[in-house]
Amino acid sequence: MATLKEVISCTSDYDPEALPVAKANEVIRSFINPVSGVEKLRVRAALGRVLAKDVVSPIDVPSHDNSAMDGYAVRNSDLGAGEPVTLTKIGTAYAGREFTGEVGRGECVRVMTGAVMPKNTDTVVIQEGVRVDGKRITIPAGQEIGQNRRLAGEDLKKGKPALKAGALLRPAEIGLIASLGIGEVSVRRRLKVAFFSTGDELVSVGKKLKAGEVYDSNRYTLWGMLTRLGCEVVDLGVVRDDPKKLEAAFRKAAALADAVVTSGGVSVGEADFTKQMMAKLGEVVFWKIAMRPGRPMAFGRIRARGKSAYLFGLPGNPVAVMVTFYHFVRGALLTMMGRCDTDLPLLRAKAATPMRKKPGRTEYQRGILELKNGEWSVRLTGAQGSGILRSMSEANCFVVLGHQQESVKAGDYVELMVMDGLV
Ligand code: AMP
Ligand code: MG
Repeated sequence: MATLKEVISCTSDYDPEALPVAKANEVIRSFINPVSGVEKLRVRAALGRVLAKDVVSPIDVPSHDNSAMDGYAVRNSDLGAGEPVTLTKIGTAYAGREFTGEVGRGECVRVMTGAVMPKNTDTVVIQEGVRVDGKRITIPAGQEIGQNRRLAGEDLKKGKPALKAGALLRPAEIGLIASLGIGEVSVRRRLKVAFFSTGDELVSVGKKLKAGEVYDSNRYTLWGMLTRLGCEVVDLGVVRDDPKKLEAAFRKAAALADAVVTSGGVSVGEADFTKQMMAKLGEVVFWKIAMRPGRPMAFGRIRARGKSAYLFGLPGNPVAVMVTFYHFVRGALLTMMGRCDTDLPLLRAKAATPMRKKPGRTEYQRGILELKNGEWSVRLTGAQGSGILRSMSEANCFVVLGHQQESVKAGDYVELMVMDGLV
């Protein structure tokens, strides 16, 4: 396993005092590794987990050629080129109840959607397209060979991987595994993530605030974000800005978790004593990232009692915690979970208002994406201060103003990342 120093020495234009977002992510992604543990679970218990091995299809899905529509299964060679033909109906095939006879020349079979194609037939004419007179079925000209027929194996082919290792198991994958008749799957073990807040000013929910104190909200947003990612979370509470207590908390976290996420204690005023302590515990770098919100961040690996954990030291401001979590920690933790696809799409929408932006840093402004006069448009949530958590709650997207981007005029297209997904 490479050291952090080695990873950084392979990173071009590395400047810890003004690190572009993409560079920070490059270092993080090259340094972390997926966890190796695997467990076998019943299919439903695997929802939200990451597949550890390819699922190879033991069967063709569908297993037989079948009808895609309610209609009549015919022999293509019976159909007239330019004029209608009249065939004789000799029976009916239902989904799950096959028509077992043979279909001779001039004959057809009534078929329901999902019914196995009767012997010798290759084409289905939809019921709305024919004229029925007792058993005499008249079929108009212009049918295409093989129409409305689903081929055996067209969904999944026997012996081929139906799902690849690294896939997230969503409802579609759970159903797909069931469609193969498989009842158990191998998934990566859950990631264990410890988290705590640092700060002498923090007060836990349920206590009265004195002057200068704030409620510890970061431990709630962090808990929520980690839980949503599917991590097993360990809440280590609030740790005071005291080197001994911090060291004890970091040691405990390193011994019991795969990753540690903290808030506060990495800003310029506080970083110095955290840095000295970290130097004892492992390899941690302190960055000033060219972004807003969320400039300071610590990243590395710490050790205790023969175990180690990746460390993400996030800034203390409530919005900065969430922004740095989503844009650095999320992808890193998903990679540790074994996920092969971690990037989210950047969409484009029209800016409803001007947006001020300085080139040379990435900004994650909180936006509201809405349909206006038939077009998707995005506006900001108002005050964008890194302490204003309401901006995250009101937003349904991040407006991502890239490193080189300058100020935006109303009507310009901007990139954005939607916060909520369908599945
Ligand atoms: P720091 O990064 O520790 O200097 O904190 C920056 C700002 O974030 C300060 O105004 C803190 O009071 C605030 N802050 C730090 N930690 C928390 C927390 N856990 N919950 C709410 N606000 C916090
Ligand atoms: Mg602090």
